[in-house]
Amino acid sequence: MTGAAIALFTRDLRVQDNPVLTAAHRAGGTVVPLFVLDEGILARGLCPPNRAHFLVAALRELDAELRDLGGRLVLRSGDIAEQVAAVAAETGASEVHIAADVSRYSRDREQRLRARLARDHRELQVHTGSLTVLEPGAVLPANRDHFAVFTPYFRRWSTARRRPALRAPHRLDLPSIASDPLPRPEDLGRGEPSPELAVGGETTGREMLRDWLSHGIADYARDSDDLAADATSRLSPYLHFGCLSPAELVRRADDSTPGGAAFIRQLAWRDFHHQVLAARPAAAWSDYRDRAIRWRADDQAVTAWSEGRTGFPIVDAGMRQLRAQGWMPNRARLIAASFLTKTLRVDWRTGARHFRYWLVDADVADNQLNWQWIAGTGNDTRPNRVLNPLRQAERYDPDGAYVRRWIPELTELDGRAAHRPWRDRLEDYPAPIIECPGM
Ligand code: FAD
Repeated sequence: MTGAAIALFTRDLRVQDNPVLTAAHRAGGTVVPLFVLDEGILARGLCPPNRAHFLVAALRELDAELRDLGGRLVLRSGDIAEQVAAVAAETGASEVHIAADVSRYSRDREQRLRARLARDHRELQVHTGSLTVLEPGAVLPANRDHFAVFTPYFRRWSTARRRPALRAPHRLDLPSIASDPLPRPEDLGRGEPSPELAVGGETTGREMLRDWLSHGIADYARDSDDLAADATSRLSPYLHFGCLSPAELVRRADDSTPGGAAFIRQLAWRDFHHQVLAARPAAAWSDYRDRAIRWRADDQAVTAWSEGRTGFPIVDAGMRQLRAQGWMPNRARLIAASFLTKTLRVDWRTGARHFRYWLVDADVADNQLNWQWIAGTGNDTRPNRVLNPLRQAERYDPDGAYVRRWIPELTELDGRAAHRPWRDRLEDYPAPIIECPGM
């Protein structure tokens, strides 16, 4: 038998359709399924309570899935390069497999790992096809290193060749190796999670996916923007942590139905942002297009926005849902982000930071580049568009059901009156913090 191979999990916490686990298994020897609680991420505060809770649950489900295959998850914590090198030395592993990722941090991590392993004559093998359906750079416009506009990207993306599906290994053999106990959320940092946070993990994610494909997706094209209908998949955190494979989702959604086609298109948006970030890692915090916008500093307005007390129910409902669930539907994110950047004229980075703290699916590519899109500094071909909160409310929450669900102060207001509470002079709900057209 050949030696051991390490499958180093990062944000690909699944056994199904996982190029890293498959490659380590195909090496033909024993496999060490390894996860390192990376002090580089924890020390930088990049794992706030919602993501910490989701991650801990996802690690437990991954461990259970691996045990079903005859293995288990090996856990270590500390400096990732040193920990991987130590596990490789303990098991005699000659190769380490890891998924390609796009953020600056993950690319630095890859380089450090490669250099550290090379010192011991071990090899790092990086696998694409894990994080996105199509790897960044797989389709390119002439003379450019990425697509800056979604529509032409989507045309090429739709017809590009995709990798075949990968089944979970039939059986895993582990070498003799000790593991730290699986972590508790408090091992990752302090703070309370959102009360209605989703439960992480591949097993849970696969149940949700089954349910979505058999019930939800059929109405997706019609209802995805209907705020009260809650008619989107809610799979984003499972995609962020890789509990589900985006390639599998595209394979299983039927693109000949309106719902399937619309859902696949949204997954292409995810790939689109990843290929932008891969080519422009600085876009995580710098304007992708410098439009010399003069942002306003307004701490009071930012606090009102972040606490859901702007006086505009459609904005406040979304921001309260964010705190309650660690998640918001796309339409609510668009409205809240447009309000902050276009109506209040506050820098998109302020909003992106708040979202990154609360969102369980917070992702450098998707969060930062969606914020830039709405702020007009990103990839939108109509950078000056402003989403008027009242018109958005009338269109996407016509009966006021969404705002009443999240703002109990408004439960007495009928129908559309809930979108203009200033007319009823409520005592316990704030007056609007700014004037908007159509008030
Ligand atoms: P569905 O409507 O069911 O869509 C299926 C999947 O497609 C999603 O899970 C997601 O992976 C992908 N997707 C859908 N819309 C987008 C989009 N506009 N851009 C990229 N991918 C998309 N998404 C994140 O995953 N992480 C983030 O940090 C994030 N931050 C955002 C910030 C702002 C300001 C905005 C406007 C959008 C952001 N999005 C982010 C995109 C989108 O809002 C979420 O992916 C979506 O709401 C997740 O819900 P769902 O899984 O029910 O989506």
